[in-house]
Amino acid sequence: MDFIHQMEPWFDENEITAMVEYLKSDPWLTEFKKTKELEGQICEFTGAKFCTMVNNGTVSLAVALMALGIGAGDDVIVPDFTMIASANAAILCGSNPVFVDIEESSLCLDIDSFKSAITKNTKALVLVSINGRYPTKLAEIIEVCMNENILILEDAAQSLGSFKGDKHLGTLGNIGSFSFSSQKIVTTGQGGALITDNEELSLKIRALKDFGRDRGGIDIHKTMGFNFKLTDLQAVIGIEQMKKLPFRIKRKKEIFHSYQQLLEQTDQVEFIHTNLEETTPWFIDILVPDPKSLQTYLRDNNIGTRVFYPPIHLQPAYNRNETYPVAEKIAEHGLWLPSSSQLKDSDIEFICSSINQFYS
Ligand SMILES: *Cc1c(COP(=O)(O)O)cnc(C)c1O
Repeated sequence: MDFIHQMEPWFDENEITAMVEYLKSDPWLTEFKKTKELEGQICEFTGAKFCTMVNNGTVSLAVALMALGIGAGDDVIVPDFTMIASANAAILCGSNPVFVDIEESSLCLDIDSFKSAITKNTKALVLVSINGRYPTKLAEIIEVCMNENILILEDAAQSLGSFKGDKHLGTLGNIGSFSFSSQKIVTTGQGGALITDNEELSLKIRALKDFGRDRGGIDIHKTMGFNFKLTDLQAVIGIEQMKKLPFRIKRKKEIFHSYQQLLEQTDQVEFIHTNLEETTPWFIDILVPDPKSLQTYLRDNNIGTRVFYPPIHLQPAYNRNETYPVAEKIAEHGLWLPSSSQLKDSDIEFICSSINQFYS
């Protein structure tokens, strides 16, 4: 029996044909028309006015913070439970990440912890929508930010296909960021996208990723900038992947629902409350008493899983002497089950019966 990966990228003949055609068209390989086309698809899908591709979903966060004017001496609030890039991006632009706890119901930012972390140095919030969910007190969080002049960068890397009402996540703050790494719902291998409705911000982002140029091919640099560009080689893949996004969204929701049904009888397995009308679960996240032993048992049955991120303040790279009880508790109990869109129903049945057996 083949090993079932926790997550794997998925492509087929469409990507191969598109890539061959592109390579035969005498292309320049770097970003150009294909990147522009992909940006257009993302605008259309999310409803954002402007989209700019960059080379990954960590650089995208750092560039967004730079475009918002965040730098040395500024504090940026980041939830303690997220992929470490949400915090490292603040470091990359010279600012200081300040961690706050999450709430158990959504695994996203807790409003009270957020409010008590605000000081006069607080300039921005990295609002992470973990696994396509958003904080239960989102409206209030946005209101606090407006009142306190705190800019909002949404790290929506896990939320392509997820909404709050009819608004796509990533369109609720000043800038929204997505990742197209090989783990994400659609991928270009590596890649990132920034969306905004603010034209001035989008021009800043474009200049930042292209050496401070205001258009291609000129060597006068009006502002400071770097090279964070995608390539058309990657965009060719991204365009085909975006066409498959609606199917994957539907399938991810079905997969989540099947897991919930097949694990319903096992009291040890807990799901996070998920509104499938709005949320496309990127990963299947469960809370169990003993994620590491379940992981070992499943690995012996050819099933790959991944334990939750450790709280960021406890990561060796930060090692801060602070405590965030909810993030710490969640990290001790969380496990990501196989979550690829190409999982078959029979895979899910096998995975769930293995889990049920482990707890029987
Ligand atoms: C994947 C991810 C990132 C980083 O994206 P890369 O493209 O891998 O750099 C950032 N934040 C969150 C929440 C992520 O899930």
